Amino acid sequence: MFIEDILIPMLIIGAVGALLGLILAIAERVFEVQTDPRIEGVYERLPHYNCGACGYPGCQAFAEGLVAQEFNRVSLCRPANALQRQAIMDYMNSTPGVNGQIFEVQI
Ligand code: SF4
Repeated sequence: MFIEDILIPMLIIGAVGALLGLILAIAERVFEVQTDPRIEGVYERLPHYNCGACGYPGCQAFAEGLVAQEFNRVSLCRPANALQRQAIMDYMNSTPGVNGQIFEVQI
């Protein structure tokens, strides 16, 4: 009596949990949003002032805009020094995107 009162609800809760976990795992694969890894590559090379001088609300948005080909001049980031600009240009001009194509940028 006591075992049945506890064991059956535990099994039901465990089965429901496993089912929901399976549904979440499938949904994650189906609705996965692929981000271009170059966004992170550009972001790492920026000065991270988040000042907005580039016209974007922050460095992350700048990196996303550059990778999305909204502009092609790295010098839009005014606080970046010459080394940082060169590093971003070299990175973008040598790293293909998820479509396999390289987006050429300029200083
Ligand atoms: S100007 Fe440069 S440092 Fe300032 S937010 Fe834009 S990318 Fe970041």
